[in-house]
Amino acid sequence: MRKKVIAGNWKMNKETTDVVQFVEEAVASLPNSEAVEAIVCAPFPYLTLLVEKTKGTTLKVSAQNMHFADDGAYTGEVSPVMLKDIGVTHVIIGHSERREYFAETDETVNKKIHAAFKHGLTPIVCVGETLAQREANETKAHVEKQVELALGGLDEKQVAETIIAYEPIWAIGTGKTASSADANEVCSHIRKVVEKVTNAETAEKVVIQYGGSVKPANVDELLSQSDIDGALVGGASLEAASFVKLVEAGAK
Ligand code: PGA
Repeated sequence: MRKKVIAGNWKMNKETTDVVQFVEEAVASLPNSEAVEAIVCAPFPYLTLLVEKTKGTTLKVSAQNMHFADDGAYTGEVSPVMLKDIGVTHVIIGHSERREYFAETDETVNKKIHAAFKHGLTPIVCVGETLAQREANETKAHVEKQVELALGGLDEKQVAETIIAYEPIWAIGTGKTASSADANEVCSHIRKVVEKVTNAETAEKVVIQYGGSVKPANVDELLSQSDIDGALVGGASLEAASFVKLVEAGAK
């Protein structure tokens, strides 16, 4: 049985007092279950604080992006070595907002995934189609290409450890969720793509999340689908009580 993974993506939100309050509230009520993994993906300035505050708890800490190089003349960037150094365990790679506003490409996504594994970080790799692509019936082909390029050159063990987040761009922050059946259809296609590039055993192991307006009211339905192994959640992960409900849904 695959574990459910619930990751809260705070994006560019919160300040120190909010971070402290969130952690105190969340760790006091998060379910202690082997069936679910809970992760918060925070802005860089709060990662160290979060690592300290979550020590000895089940809550894991993720960055929202990183550079692929170990170090060097890349003003304003943060490297995988630094993330590892401060105790971060996961990193989001290729979120659609990075692809859209910060020129992230399938090539840099692939380099970053390799860099994450080189330094012992687990990548949460985002893929997903635009509304125009969905309407043109190009969803599966587009997502397939993104997954193949993202996983290029990884060994089977690395692919099995990669978390893939299927996030239809039109569903992010819009309140529109893909129907659970539509979301599952794409997640199941992604699993087939993973099988194609590796093998059936690896495809069975890989965690595939759905993301896009997930909230306590729709999470059970989404997580009940055969190929949806968790959620990457923006808006509904900002409040500790809501985040805890999502993780509880993953523990059911
Ligand atoms: P949302 O964001 O839950 O606010 O739609 C999801 C994401 O961008 O990861």
